[in-house]
Amino acid sequence: MPTKRSELKTELRKALKNSEIVPYFQPMVGIRSGKLVGFEVLARWLHPQRGTIRPDEFIPLAEQADLIGELTDTILLQAFAATAALDKSLTISVNISPIQLRDPSLPEEIRRAAAMAAFPLNRLTIEITESALVDNLELAASIATKLKNLGVKLALDDFGTGYSSLRNLQALPFDELKVDRSFVSSMVQCRDSRKIVAAVIGLGQSLKLTTVAEGIENETQADILRWLGCDVGQGWIYGPPVSVHDLPKIVDAPMST
Ligand code: C2E
Ligand code: CA
Ligand code: CA
Ligand code: CA
Repeated sequence: MPTKRSELKTELRKALKNSEIVPYFQPMVGIRSGKLVGFEVLARWLHPQRGTIRPDEFIPLAEQADLIGELTDTILLQAFAATAALDKSLTISVNISPIQLRDPSLPEEIRRAAAMAAFPLNRLTIEITESALVDNLELAASIATKLKNLGVKLALDDFGTGYSSLRNLQALPFDELKVDRSFVSSMVQCRDSRKIVAAVIGLGQSLKLTTVAEGIENETQADILRWLGCDVGQGWIYGPPVSVHDLPKIVDAPMST
């Protein structure tokens, strides 16, 4: 981005006040049933001059400016409000930043936000990336256990790309394993990627975790994942993230594949 970072931080603070940070919703679909099971919530900055800004640009900024707690709060509140009245079987998956797993007040903040929107916490999954866990596994585990006690499910995101993956998997009470998009993308051309995906799905299954593959863009990838026994899929083939206004369309529309 062209502007100075300090300026952007000031802008981000303003953006949070002006409700320019909003959740988008990407369908998560049962790979065998083809049925919608829920959504991953992905933050967007609807900037009045610059248009839509992707999270890769502003999440790091929010972390540096100590605004990430506030950002997560507004995303959670909006996502709860948008989905509380939908079919009770539909879940939402929300990403949290690594540094938030060092914040003991996180579970209470999530509980409060859910209560405000009358959103049952057994419909919420929190997605955690592996880098989150590296430096303070004990603290992360105690926060994760508090979340579990609230009924929240935990997903290990971008599995295979971080550090000490297997140790992380054992240290925290995960419910779900997300195969990183990079493996899914190269799976059709590359036999080794395919073997890695197969091994990760097998590992998830033997640990009784729900396995999710992200970044599914074509039928061939979906076929391979179905054949490997992956549970849930996500990607362009099922639909991109959409705004709250377009959410009713994807809830009613039957999914392909
Ligand atoms: P992620 O959690 O791995 O999310 C998946 C990313 O893959 C999203 O990018 C999504 O739009 C994109 N994607 C989905 N399907 C496909 C596909 O078929 N092909 C391709 N090429 N891409 C696909 P997005 O929305 O730009 O988000 C980027 C990252 O930003 C996320 O990666 C997540 O780590 C982070 N993020 C997003 N929202 C939040 C948030 O509210 N809080 C925090 N802390 N991080 C967030
Ligand atoms: Ca994620
Ligand atoms: Ca991911
Ligand atoms: Ca990612």
